[in-house]
Amino acid sequence: MQTLDSLKPKQCTALNAVISIAELNHFFGQGQLRKQVLFNINLTINAGEIVIMTGPSGSGKTTLLSMIGGLRSPQSGSLKLLNQELCGASQKQLIQSRRNIGYIFQAHNLLNSLTALQNVQMSLQLHHHLSPEEEGTKAAEMLEAVGLGHRLHYYPDDLSGGQKQRVAIARALVSHPKIVLADEPTAALDSKSGRDVVNLMQKLAKEQGCTILMVTHDNRILDIADRIVHMEDGHLTSDTRTTMHSNSYQ
Ligand code: ADP
Ligand code: MG
Repeated sequence: MQTLDSLKPKQCTALNAVISIAELNHFFGQGQLRKQVLFNINLTINAGEIVIMTGPSGSGKTTLLSMIGGLRSPQSGSLKLLNQELCGASQKQLIQSRRNIGYIFQAHNLLNSLTALQNVQMSLQLHHHLSPEEEGTKAAEMLEAVGLGHRLHYYPDDLSGGQKQRVAIARALVSHPKIVLADEPTAALDSKSGRDVVNLMQKLAKEQGCTILMVTHDNRILDIADRIVHMEDGHLTSDTRTTMHSNSYQ
């Protein structure tokens, strides 16, 4: 707990922090194979921010994202998600905190045996106790919002790469998560589809007031960020607020 005492004033005053990380380290492997991949990570992300994380392959971006997402347990330091400490949290607590998060991965990870509508609807079943009719209506509305109202009953194999990624966005956002974590969501898309997909994420996130942390190598989409953080060999080496979007919160 002494780590909390060392938080910088800026972090202490960030009452609306949704992600708050202090002195986080992470190791993979045991014994001689033990290797440190995250070094003393400090990062605070406030409600409504769109933060992009850049950095070379192997620098630890996915590892950090999976820990923030409650998919991997933090070993040391502090990682708070919506004021809940994940370091030392039980599996049950991790599962609970995942309910606040929408995930978008590089590969869309849709279930091929389900239609677009069923894929989105399935995500609602994990969160809410809605009737099947209500789920269907909400899922259809979200697919319409991402421009796929005319593809509700298509299977993933019959959709283009950009369309599949838009279904994945609808699936991530339909439950109105407080946080969206996206790991290279445009990597498999051509530049036009990639741009469309991030514009859509930005628009829907701003409408829902959610916070986005997105890993990307794609320099063409950096402009949607309020802040860009850079990871290098397991260290966060820079944290830049972009002037264009420095708005409400500082
Ligand atoms: P990035 O997403 O920036 O490409 P990763 O977080 O995937 O980086 O990987 C960071 C480092 O951790 C790499 O050296 C990678 O080989 C290693 N690593 C990732 N996952 C595992 C794992 N499950 N077991 C052991 N090492 C891993
Ligand atoms: Mg990665």
